[in-house]
Amino acid sequence: MSRYVESVLEVVKNRNAGEPEFHQAVQEVLDSLRPVFSRHPEFEASGLLERIVEPERQIFFRVPWQDDHGKVHVNRGFRVEFNSALGPYKGGIRFHPSVYIGIIKFLGFEQIFKNSLTGLMMGGGKGGSDFDPKGKSDSEIMRFCQSFMNELYRHIGADTDVPAGDIGVGGREVGFMFGQYKKLTGLFTGVLTGKGLDYGGSLVRTEATGYGTVYFCEEMLKKRGTSFEGKTVVVSGSGNVAIYAHEKATQMGAKVVAMSDSNGYIYDKDGIDLNLVKQLKEVERKRIKEYVKEHKNAAYSEGCNGIWSIKCDVALPCATQNELDGAAAKTLIKNGCIAVAEGANMPCTPDAAKAFVDNKVSFGPGKAANAGGVATSGLEMAQNSQRMKWTFEETDLQLHRIMVNIYNSAKEAADEYGTPGNLINGANIAGFMKVARAMMAQGLV
Ligand code: NDP
Repeated sequence: MSRYVESVLEVVKNRNAGEPEFHQAVQEVLDSLRPVFSRHPEFEASGLLERIVEPERQIFFRVPWQDDHGKVHVNRGFRVEFNSALGPYKGGIRFHPSVYIGIIKFLGFEQIFKNSLTGLMMGGGKGGSDFDPKGKSDSEIMRFCQSFMNELYRHIGADTDVPAGDIGVGGREVGFMFGQYKKLTGLFTGVLTGKGLDYGGSLVRTEATGYGTVYFCEEMLKKRGTSFEGKTVVVSGSGNVAIYAHEKATQMGAKVVAMSDSNGYIYDKDGIDLNLVKQLKEVERKRIKEYVKEHKNAAYSEGCNGIWSIKCDVALPCATQNELDGAAAKTLIKNGCIAVAEGANMPCTPDAAKAFVDNKVSFGPGKAANAGGVATSGLEMAQNSQRMKWTFEETDLQLHRIMVNIYNSAKEAADEYGTPGNLINGANIAGFMKVARAMMAQGLV
């Protein structure tokens, strides 16, 4: 059955030339699925893999906007509606200069299986633009978001495709896009998630990805007979996911000693002062190096990769794809790290992930460990449909329950398919099976 996987991989690489991140994401999933196809020859007979690696729809569009000096800029917009077997397409929008179709496809592909793992009825999609929000005024951000929505609105809807935030897209951007969608369509529906609390947003959505990553990691630690209590933790990034991973790990008794941004990292042996990081990053939108002006005992180092040389028990990469490579993984293992949970999407390179698994470091792959964000987006959709608002405690409880279920599904699938403890295989197989069964049931569409 390996031959089937190989032939599909070859087609993916040839047909999507110059998209290495997409190849990497597909390769990882398909490698895990080899034992599935031996047990289910009907999947090959119905061309299931060939269909699942090809997006149902890809939308490319022009996004013209004017800066505060009246100068016109043109960016590219993307929305990839990858798979709707389980529900409306669901997945975030990323604004970052590195965005191109290969990044959106890698993220959209991962999203299919992640959304399936949550147990909620959501298909997979992703979108974004090569727009760089750094250094832009609020008015420029608003004009860009409005222009982006001027095209996107015709493709999305509460029952068709429900975007959310991702890198560079937080509450402010979602608000601008929601306002423009409403203006263009006259509809006040749950068409975007991550909305403000006053107009349909869900409590816990802001915290969800970071909290969920820590809930997932807690299950991995429990399996080793331990917990976050007294652990030293390194968290990369200082955005939405990183901040709330820090918050929950600290609430559980851990000490977070390092965080980063795309310029460098801070190390504070007394534990990073999260309130200051929130002030710098969420309110003032400043660089992480400003931290050491307030905390003289802390140190700032240029460059991001050095963060992994800091000794820790648990590492939570929460910044971006391929930020933790094989050499960094070796250093973490040598320094006694026992657990790694991916808050970001695909932050560990394939050789880093392999090194963790081979060395019995508990490893939570992103599509399982960071599924709390989209899970809570699913809860936001449910509340919008009900025209109801749940309490923080109620929503957090549901998030926690979903993360424990995801861990158990991944663990059980890894056991069932002969790779106990390998949560990469477990998450890929558990996520895939539900989508596969739905696609088989729905016929050749
Ligand atoms: P944000 O834009 O809020 O934050 C990203 C953070 O990562 C910023 O601090 C950024 O720094 C930093 N960063 C970027 N590149 C690097 C790098 N090479 N090394 C170190 N730090 C870097 O994004 P999110 O927190 O929302 O997303 C982070 C990751 O989590 C992404 O992979 C995203 O896809 C994933 N994710 C997010 C979800 C969500 O709900 N938000 C859900 C599931 C996954 P700078 O300010 O310098 O750019």
